[in-house]
Amino acid sequence: MALTTTLDGKVPSGPLEKKWDTYKSNVQLVAPANKRRYTIIVVGTGLAGASAAASLGELGYHVQAFCFHDSPRRAHSIAAQGGINAAKNYQNDGDSVWRLFYDTIKGGDYRSREGNVYRLSEISANIIDQCVAQGVPFAREYGGLLANRSFGGAQVSRTFYARGQTGQQLLLGAYSALMRQAAVGKVKLFPRHEMLELIVVDGVARGIVTRNLRTGAIQSHLADAVCLATGGYGNVFYLSTNAKGSNVTAVWRAHRKGAYFANPCYTQIHPTCIPVTGDYQSKLTLMSESLRNDGRVWVPAKAGDTRSPDRIPEDERDYYLERKYPSFGNLVPRDVASRNAKMVCDEGKGVGPGGLGVYLDFTDAIARDGLSVIKEKYGNLFDMYNEITAEDAYQTPMRIFPAIHYTMGGLWVDYDLMSNVPGLFVLGEANFSDHGANRLGASALMQGLADGYFVIPYTIGGYFAESKLGKIPTDHAACKDAEREASARIEKLLSIKGKRTVDSIHRELGLMLWNKCGMSRDEAGLKELLEQIPSLREEFWRDVTVTGSAGTFNQVLERAGRVADFLEFAETMVLDALDRRESCGGHFREESQTEDGEALRDDENFCHVSAWEWEGENHAPTLHKELLHFEEVHPTQRSYK
Ligand SMILES: Cc1cc2nc3c(=O)[nH]c(=O)nc-3n(C[C@H](O)[C@H](O)[C@H](O)COP(=O)(O)OP(=O)(O)OC[C@H]3O[C@@H](n4cnc5c(N)ncnc54)[C@H](O)[C@@H]3O)c2cc1C
Repeated sequence: MALTTTLDGKVPSGPLEKKWDTYKSNVQLVAPANKRRYTIIVVGTGLAGASAAASLGELGYHVQAFCFHDSPRRAHSIAAQGGINAAKNYQNDGDSVWRLFYDTIKGGDYRSREGNVYRLSEISANIIDQCVAQGVPFAREYGGLLANRSFGGAQVSRTFYARGQTGQQLLLGAYSALMRQAAVGKVKLFPRHEMLELIVVDGVARGIVTRNLRTGAIQSHLADAVCLATGGYGNVFYLSTNAKGSNVTAVWRAHRKGAYFANPCYTQIHPTCIPVTGDYQSKLTLMSESLRNDGRVWVPAKAGDTRSPDRIPEDERDYYLERKYPSFGNLVPRDVASRNAKMVCDEGKGVGPGGLGVYLDFTDAIARDGLSVIKEKYGNLFDMYNEITAEDAYQTPMRIFPAIHYTMGGLWVDYDLMSNVPGLFVLGEANFSDHGANRLGASALMQGLADGYFVIPYTIGGYFAESKLGKIPTDHAACKDAEREASARIEKLLSIKGKRTVDSIHRELGLMLWNKCGMSRDEAGLKELLEQIPSLREEFWRDVTVTGSAGTFNQVLERAGRVADFLEFAETMVLDALDRRESCGGHFREESQTEDGEALRDDENFCHVSAWEWEGENHAPTLHKELLHFEEVHPTQRSYK
C-alpha cells in the first residue's frame, strides 16, 4: 500500500466565523447570461440532489437530473423520520451557531474539518427559512413558532420536525422546487436511469453513462460538470435501515475513474431499530431517534431474566444509559448508545428472541404527559412498530437493537464539494464531508440541503469561471470506452448462469461484514475478511445467476450490478478499518478502548482523513491523507458522562 500525504481540503484562511463569508465575497461569478451556456448533470434526486438541481436551474444553468427511481420523490430521503437540526435557538436554551458546530465536531469524534462544519452550522438556519417558505409543514408550538425536540449528542433542543415524516415533507418541498424548474425547461428529468460509469476526458469529469432501466439502452450524457448526490452505501451490510435500492455504484464507478474514497470504514449504527426477526428478512426498520426524547432504555439487571417487562420491578431494571451517562442519559450519541446495547446483550441481559434487544419504555412519559401528547408526537412510529411486531408500544416497551443506518464515508471532497477529479462534485450522504467518524442525529438532512441549496450554487460557479471547458462530442473515445465497459459488465453478468442468487451472495457478504466490521472490529477479524471477500467475489463472478435479458426492465440485473460493486467496495472498507488502528466514533477497534470501554482515539497517528485511490483490480489502493487541524476546538477524550 503506497502512501502520500498531499491532500488539501482548500479551506479558506482567516477566522473560522468569517471563512464562508470571505469565500462568497471572493469567489468568481458567472454572469447571468453566461450561465445558460453551462450544462450540469446531477445524479440523484434525494434531498441533496433535488435541492441542488432546483437551485442550479433557478440560477439559469441547464440541468439534467438523473435517478433510478420512477419519480424523484421516491429517493431514500423520504424515509427520514426524526428531524433536521438548525441553530435557530427558538427554545432560548443556549443554542448558537458555535454550539452546533462544537457538538458536530465533538459528536464526530474530532475527525471532520472545522471549516466545513462551521459553514454547515451557519447555513442551518437558512435551510429552515427556505423550507418554511416552500411550505414544509414543520410542527409548531401553540404560539406559532416552529417546535423543536432534542436529538442525541446535544443538550439543547434544535431539531425541527414534521411528525415522524420530516424527510418526506422536506423532499416534497425540494421536489416542488425541482418540478418548477422542470416546468420552465431549466431541468430535464431522467427517471429510471442508472448511472453506470463516469466519463472523464483529459482528467476532467465531463459526463456519465446510464442504463435506461425500462429499455436497457446504454447512453452517454455530457455536461460541463457532474454532481453526484447518490446517497450512502449502508446496504453493503445487506440488512440496514436504508431503502433497498440504496447502493454504492455511482460513487464506486467514479472511484474507479480516479475519485478518492474517503473514510470508507466510518459507518453508523443506529441504536433504535426493530430487532432482526429471521433469516429471510431483507430490510430493517428504524424507530426514530426522536423516541429517545421520551422513551427510557433499559434491560433486566440480572442476566438471563426472561420475565415479561411488566413483571420486572423497578429495582430489578438497569437503565444503563441513565446510570452511565447522567449528563446526556438516553440522549447520548448513536455510537455510544449502540455500543452499550451490544455490551448489555453480550452480558446476557438482552430481551426478545435471541436476546438481541433492549427495551425502550414510554410508561413514564405517558404518565407524565398523557397518551394524547405521546400519540401526537410519535403516533406514526408507534403504528409502524405495531404493524411490524404486532405489539402495542403504548402498553408494553418497544424492543430495539442497533442496525446499520448511515455512512459517514464517501467520496473525498474539498471545501468546494469538488472531488480530486476536477468537475466532479459530490453532495449529501455520498460525500465524506462533515460528520467525521459519527454523525449526530438530524444532521444528515441538514448537510444534504446545505450542500444543495446553499453551497454548490456558489462553488460550481467558481469552478466554471476558472475553467476552460471545450465541447465534447458524444462519439468521443472516452464516451465509447465508458459505454463499452458498462455493456461488457452487463453481458458478463448475464452469461454466468450459475447457481447462486444475487441476494444470497449479498446476504453472505453483509453478514460477514456485520460480524467482523460492524459494531466493533479487531485486527484478526478484519484480516479474515480480507481473505473472505475476494473469494466471495470470485464465487459471484463464477456462480451467480442473473435471469432475464439486458434489453428489458430487469431488476435482478440491476441488483447484480450493485452487488458486484459492493463486493469490490467492501474490500476497501475493510482495508480502511484495518489501517485505522484507533477507535473513533462509529469505528470501534477492540484494541483501542479506555478502561470503561469507550472509544480511544489516537490523535498522534490518526488525526487525518484517509482517502483511497483506486489502482486497478487486484492491486492495493493507495492511501492519501488529509491532515486535520483543530484551531478552535481542542480534541479531548469524548465524554457524555
Ligand atoms: C430510516 C431512516 C431515517 C432517517 N432519518 C433521518 C432524520 O430524521 N434526520 C436526518 O438528518 N437524517 C436521517 N436519515 C439519514 C438521511 O435520510 C439520509 O442521509 C439522506 O436523506 C440522504 O440524502 P441524499 O440526498 O444524500 O441521498 P438519497 O436520498 O439516498 O438519494 C439518492 C438518490 O440517488 C439516486 N441514485 C443512487 N445511485 C444512482 C445511480 N447509480 N444512478 C442514478 N441515480 C442514482 C437515487 O435514485 C436517489 O434519487 C435517515 C435515514 C434512514 C435510513
